[in-house]
Amino acid sequence: MVNYHCIAVGCNNDSRKSNKLTKYPHMVDENGNIVRFFVLPSASKQSRLRRRWIEALRRENFHPKRSEFWHAVCSRHFTDGEPTRAHPVPTLFGYNNYGKSQGKPRTSNNSRASVSQRFTFIFKFVMIRLIKTNSF
Ligand SMILES: [Zn+2]
Repeated sequence: MVNYHCIAVGCNNDSRKSNKLTKYPHMVDENGNIVRFFVLPSASKQSRLRRRWIEALRRENFHPKRSEFWHAVCSRHFTDGEPTRAHPVPTLFGYNNYGKSQGKPRTSNNSRASVSQRFTFIFKFVMIRLIKTNSF
């Protein structure tokens, strides 16, 4: 399996950490989903978009070669949780204060529900892991 490490400055999300969600709560987004990883757009097919991603990342000395397809950005940096037609470029980064608002409920009404949903999700995930590891 390929492992991805988020290339956003200040983000340490790594696909290997999805085994240890309780240890790495950042690996779960505000909707209770495990973060996903999206590799840079192809240099040959989507060079423009690729450049926009790289610019948005504002990572110093980051000049990936055309052939470097393995650099990935995690879903936390996308407005929609993934690249979409409306928001194809990651925009939520430390430099624009993304992260400071982390954990704040979007509306006061559903904050309690979303927290418990998140825990339910982690619990289910851990259970599945346990079942898998014990059934060889
Ligand atoms: Zn990230």
